[in-house]
Amino acid sequence: MTKKLYYDDAYITRFETSITRQGQEEDGRPFIVLEETAFYPTGGGQPFDEGTLNGTPVTDVEEVDGEIRHYLETRIAGRAETVTGKIDWTRRFDHMQQHAGQHILSAAFAEALDYETVSFHLGKDILTIDLAVERMKWEDAQKAEELANEVIRKARPIETKWMTAEEAAAYPLRKDLAVSDQVRLVIIPDFDYNGCGGTHPRSTSEVGAIKILDWEKHKGHIRLQFVCGDRVLRQLHEKNEVLKELTSVLQSPQDKMKDAASQLIAKAKDQEKQIAELKQELLKDEAKELQGMAMPLANGATFIKGAYQNRPVQELQQLAREIVADTEEAVVFFAVHNADKLQVVGAKGKKADQNLKTLAPAIFALVNGKGGGREDFIQGGGEPVISPQALLDKVENMLIEQITN
Ligand SMILES: [Zn+2]
Repeated sequence: MTKKLYYDDAYITRFETSITRQGQEEDGRPFIVLEETAFYPTGGGQPFDEGTLNGTPVTDVEEVDGEIRHYLETRIAGRAETVTGKIDWTRRFDHMQQHAGQHILSAAFAEALDYETVSFHLGKDILTIDLAVERMKWEDAQKAEELANEVIRKARPIETKWMTAEEAAAYPLRKDLAVSDQVRLVIIPDFDYNGCGGTHPRSTSEVGAIKILDWEKHKGHIRLQFVCGDRVLRQLHEKNEVLKELTSVLQSPQDKMKDAASQLIAKAKDQEKQIAELKQELLKDEAKELQGMAMPLANGATFIKGAYQNRPVQELQQLAREIVADTEEAVVFFAVHNADKLQVVGAKGKKADQNLKTLAPAIFALVNGKGGGREDFIQGGGEPVISPQALLDKVENMLIEQITN
């Protein structure tokens, strides 16, 4: 069993000890086991410590079968029997602040509102706790946040005591103990009593501050997001930077920003609507112009055609429909060259005798493509092996032949 220095003193950042053994996992990761260590292994919701052993970076620390394995970037060179360990204190102290902050906030929710914490996650940027309630109001969250920060300001001691489970049962514990023999109780006198194996600062004041950010419903609970310690300042800084940028983009101070953004969105929607209306008018004008260019086909039907480059095919569908709704004897064909495709749209009015559906296979064969539709409307496309204009000439002949044969 490795002696856990972080239990004697959570503030040890440098230590010297002897190597018990060096090993290698099946996946090739080298690890080292020490007689004693200040490196905290992943556990109880707290991530592992980083740092170095004889200058070699420690990438992971896990407790396996009672021994603490320090995973290294590379094996420690030579025949070293002792190592010097250095803990990445910024990372560790952040974990201590967050971890202790979670104890305080959970206790505050229990004390102020009788809400039980059922799970905890310490993430890279934010922390979450799941509270055993279905909904929560901001005033409630605020009560717990205020109480938590009051406990921090009062600089209450955070003590740890080892005892048997029976002895621990005499304390007003927040939740059932996870271990049955030796229990490590983390105590904020007259406020919180918890069985916990994590690292904590000596005083609540070192947590600095707690800020609730948001919450959401999650599997019948409330999942609450918050930050503690230096992360509060980091969050404030990040959010402030975003606000500063938005102030300049929206040309509006913070308190008027929401209105400015809403106005901008409403204006954009209005303009989109106007553009759609104008497009519709343009299309109607274009339809009128094309109707004036109708040429006789056969049996009283007329032919209207258009050849285009780079034009949305949806627009041409709309245009064709517009024309045949108005000119019932018209047969309309549009061909458009878009990127590496030649697309075709055909429509006919009620009084034209042609059947576009039966012509479709022959038309789309001209471009090695495919398409289909109904008797009065077809569309499809293929390769640009022929110009749009030449294709329309061939289609015109097919339409005449269909009636005269
Ligand atoms: Zn703890």
